[in-house]
Amino acid sequence: MIELTVLGFGGWLSNPFLHQSSYLINVDDIKVLLDAGEGTYFNLRKCTKLDIEDIDYLIISHAHGDHVLGIPTILQVAMFKGVKVKILSTEPTINSIKELTASVGAKEFLKSAEFTYLPMEGTSEIDEITITTVRAIHPIPAISLTLMLGNHKISYSGDTALNLRFLEASKESDLLIHELSAPKELSDEAREYGHTSAADLKTIIEIAHPKYLLPTHYYIYPPMIDLNDLKCVPTKLLTPAPCAYYKL
Ligand SMILES: [Zn+2]
Repeated sequence: MIELTVLGFGGWLSNPFLHQSSYLINVDDIKVLLDAGEGTYFNLRKCTKLDIEDIDYLIISHAHGDHVLGIPTILQVAMFKGVKVKILSTEPTINSIKELTASVGAKEFLKSAEFTYLPMEGTSEIDEITITTVRAIHPIPAISLTLMLGNHKISYSGDTALNLRFLEASKESDLLIHELSAPKELSDEAREYGHTSAADLKTIIEIAHPKYLLPTHYYIYPPMIDLNDLKCVPTKLLTPAPCAYYKL
């Protein structure tokens, strides 16, 4: 069983009610946080009974603020509690996290972080997790990723324009969390800025065939989803909401 809690699913300019990117995955009591936008720690406390010491891994897709600005607070809480946070990401993103934390006067909190470097492309075995990373199509170094956790395959696009290589890697996922930043009519702008739009939904579903799909990271206007795009395979669409909790 996969437990998914949506801690935040907006982008930087989304309605603040959506909060910023962070998804908690729990499989066989292994708890993985995907990204940590602003307010992630507060949302973890608000949406779950968990605290930072309960999180086994924090995986960061890239260093845009709506994916990392929650990290200094997480590290401060970890230091206060005397626990370590295992942060998995690529070298450029880890460098940005270190600079960010140092620049908000919190360099010493970095002692609470245990960094593990992921390749931009490749498969890594980290304890009980197998992580496959694919370079995302985005203006800064960014990854999309697929996790094997127990018998479950979970994929997360992070921020990316439509990327057939990632969709191939994420094929037949039990859960695919994929950004759908823009409505169809803004598909050109979305692609130009390294994002996906509702115009890409059919391709995402046809190639990746996820069992469950969570569309996320809405920009200013949430995308309108055409139900015809969902007819091709028996993918079930999850509706994100602040603190939404799913047992899959
Ligand atoms: Zn981004």
